[in-house]
Amino acid sequence: MKKTVTTLADGRELIYYDSADDIVRDAVDLRPLDAVSTSSEVRVDPLLGDSVAIASHRQGRTYHPPADECPLCPSREGRLSEIPDAHYDVAVFENRFPSLAGDSGRCEVVCFTSDHDVSFAGLTEAQAALVLEAWTDRTAELAELPQVTQVFCFENRGAEIGVTLGHPHGQIYGYPFVTPRTELMMRSAETHRTETGRNLFDDVVARELADGDRVVLEGEHWVAFVPYAAHWPYEVHLHPRRRVPDLRELDDAARTEFPQIYLELLRRFDRIFGPGEPPTPYISAWHQAPFGVPGREEFGLHLELFTIRRTPGKLKFLAGSESGMSVFINDVPPEAAAQRLREVASE
Ligand SMILES: [Zn+2]
Repeated sequence: MKKTVTTLADGRELIYYDSADDIVRDAVDLRPLDAVSTSSEVRVDPLLGDSVAIASHRQGRTYHPPADECPLCPSREGRLSEIPDAHYDVAVFENRFPSLAGDSGRCEVVCFTSDHDVSFAGLTEAQAALVLEAWTDRTAELAELPQVTQVFCFENRGAEIGVTLGHPHGQIYGYPFVTPRTELMMRSAETHRTETGRNLFDDVVARELADGDRVVLEGEHWVAFVPYAAHWPYEVHLHPRRRVPDLRELDDAARTEFPQIYLELLRRFDRIFGPGEPPTPYISAWHQAPFGVPGREEFGLHLELFTIRRTPGKLKFLAGSESGMSVFINDVPPEAAAQRLREVASE
């Protein structure tokens, strides 16, 4: 893998990750961009104690690409995009319109491939392996920034969940604090350690393997299951068998097997609702331990993949109980969801 770090016309960082070690990346961003002057503000809710990022100041937007021109496709003559080069493998750049910036963290965009018309599930194993390298490297780089406490790599896929760009891409948020969900997990892990002397993540995976009826897919180094108390209609958690706190600490064996397992999961997701249905909208979220906090070593890196579609043509909305009270009502029993995800395995 070769990594090339460069800057865009407005000073934002752009990083290429290439599978070929001899590639040269020297294309220059020729767009007339104003320098980015971003600031966002993090406010803490006095009742809940959680944080809300208020992205109040937006940048001067002098450069508007036409709506039909994808900013994530490679640049070509007369059609300049966020990626100056004419082709790329994986490219990561700082978001021009970030929710978190400056002292409040950092937002990056990860372009999985220069091919506009493919989805992550359509990548080759080698391409997926390169994306994993990029996620891992970004985690390591952002860990060094004083304003970043936690790194969240994720992908939103599908117009139903508000994705406006069709180009296959994900995002990375570097938060300046420990996020509420991570904090809850860490608190549960601490309580579990106190009460049992064991690690919570290890016990959850062991229980799912012992129960068996929610297991979706088992590899030599990864286990995927629908969690016992799944919140979403179709939700899968993917854990490495050897627990690690974040992507940096995955061993080579787990890295090598990951593309095969993850691509199979995504392909099964697209088959849940049967042929003829549009691709399944999903959110894919890496949960990683925050940096430099007590209990970090107790955390278990895992990926949570879920869809908001519950039946063909019908979405699960976060309505009164979910939005108002944080109590999820799930119409699909986790065991039935797991059964369906086993039925649609690749031949
Ligand atoms: Zn594109």
